[in-house]
Amino acid sequence: MDCKRTQPPAPPELFVLRDEQGPILYAPLSRLMARANDSAVRVALAYASDPSTLDGMTQDEQDVVFALRDRGFFEQRAYPQHEVGFRPVQVTLFPTNNCNLRCSYCYAFGGEGGGNGEPLTTMPLEVAQRSIDLIARNAKERMDAGEPIRNFLVSIHGNGEPFCAYDLIRKIVWYGQDVAERLEVPAVFNAATNGVLTEEQLDFLIANFHSVNISFDGLPAYQDANRPLASGAGSFARLDHTMRRLVEAGVDFGIRTTVTAAMVESMPQIVEFVADNYPGIEQLHFEPVWECGRCKTSTDTMPSPQDFTRNYLAALEVAQRRGVRLVFSGARQDMIVDTFCKVSSGSFTVTPTGDVTACYEVSYASDPRSKRFFFGRFDQAVGDFVFDQDKLDELSGLCVHNFHFCDNCFCRWHCAGDCAAKVLDGIPIEEHQGSVRCQISRALTLNQIQRKLDWKPAIKDEHAQGTDTDARGVH
Ligand code: SF4
Ligand code: SF4
Ligand code: SF4
Repeated sequence: MDCKRTQPPAPPELFVLRDEQGPILYAPLSRLMARANDSAVRVALAYASDPSTLDGMTQDEQDVVFALRDRGFFEQRAYPQHEVGFRPVQVTLFPTNNCNLRCSYCYAFGGEGGGNGEPLTTMPLEVAQRSIDLIARNAKERMDAGEPIRNFLVSIHGNGEPFCAYDLIRKIVWYGQDVAERLEVPAVFNAATNGVLTEEQLDFLIANFHSVNISFDGLPAYQDANRPLASGAGSFARLDHTMRRLVEAGVDFGIRTTVTAAMVESMPQIVEFVADNYPGIEQLHFEPVWECGRCKTSTDTMPSPQDFTRNYLAALEVAQRRGVRLVFSGARQDMIVDTFCKVSSGSFTVTPTGDVTACYEVSYASDPRSKRFFFGRFDQAVGDFVFDQDKLDELSGLCVHNFHFCDNCFCRWHCAGDCAAKVLDGIPIEEHQGSVRCQISRALTLNQIQRKLDWKPAIKDEHAQGTDTDARGVH
């Protein structure tokens, strides 16, 4: 299915949200917002659907329309579009599916070969090298053509712990640095790791990686229980050492905390703990556990959307006081996009077996979802990658233009239909019905809007009978 790249139909998209203070007019494509009263909402919607209604309005009603129109509420804006044409300048490499932890909710059965009996595998160096060649060449050509590309990006991730293949990681980084020097294109290296590293690995990480994401379950007891070492012992002490060294070295790093029902009430406490112990982290990312992979075989359950939202908002108060940036993936009112992640542009992710997948969570050919997300592989005979253009075209259709369930959602251009692996688990695009996560995304996005409105002094517009249409209430 192609991505439908249509312009917005008239009328422009205008939503009426409500909270305890009353209605909020919200135009998502321009991110304009204003508190209003019911009569202002009525005239705004009437004018948006048919501008000729202006003639029949009273002077006060017309003034409301003019105030909103001056601020751009009725302008048609182009829909966002994701990149088409597969010329990646970024690659995510999964060096190994081996792992030194056995997290109870691991989506990939890390250290156990995906749960379907696949062997533990380390990526051949040649596969990593050809991946880097491809993105570096693209970056060079696109820079020479005047595109705003500044580097190529190698991200190290995994359906296991990447540093379990430390020797390979060193060779990947050295090779990337050589290519960067030869082509005169800067190379950037990012890593996602569980943080249980040797001292030598830690030194290498600090010296060579620009940004690091660490998975940490927020408090020592949760970390030890949910993310034990393969031996069954707790992992917190090792991880704590890593994070303290990253702080000390001034490395740009973020923490990702997977929230289960059992720990949801501790979210504010987790923010305090992180702020106390790892000051200056780039962000703290809370994500409710998704029941897939090893999680299905454990007792971990997803918190209810109400519990997650309530505790996230309480945690946000702490975060603002402590100077921590808090994130949940579905609430991002500052973004205007048509896809949740890069999956629809064919995110170039290479598994240890040399398969190319568009989705981090789908990394085994035995996973039924690989039919949708796998779109290429490293061909040993050719010594390079081969890609399936038909698959790439299908992936391009994984965008919110085609998720009609989202058509009337005010988060449509922010959440963009959420994570395709979660909401389309084995179903056709047409059957996208959102998920339990929608409640969280909507509540937290509304909260982002409220915060922006409430940061501004409410200016009473006499003509609008209480409608706050002052520019300071508009974004
Ligand atoms: S560290 Fe990552 S790959 Fe390893 S078991 Fe935990 S979640 Fe899975
Ligand atoms: S589809 Fe979901 S799981 Fe897959 S890469 Fe995108 S956000 Fe991650
Ligand atoms: S309906 Fe759900 S998945 Fe779709 S945009 Fe809204 S919150 Fe996201």
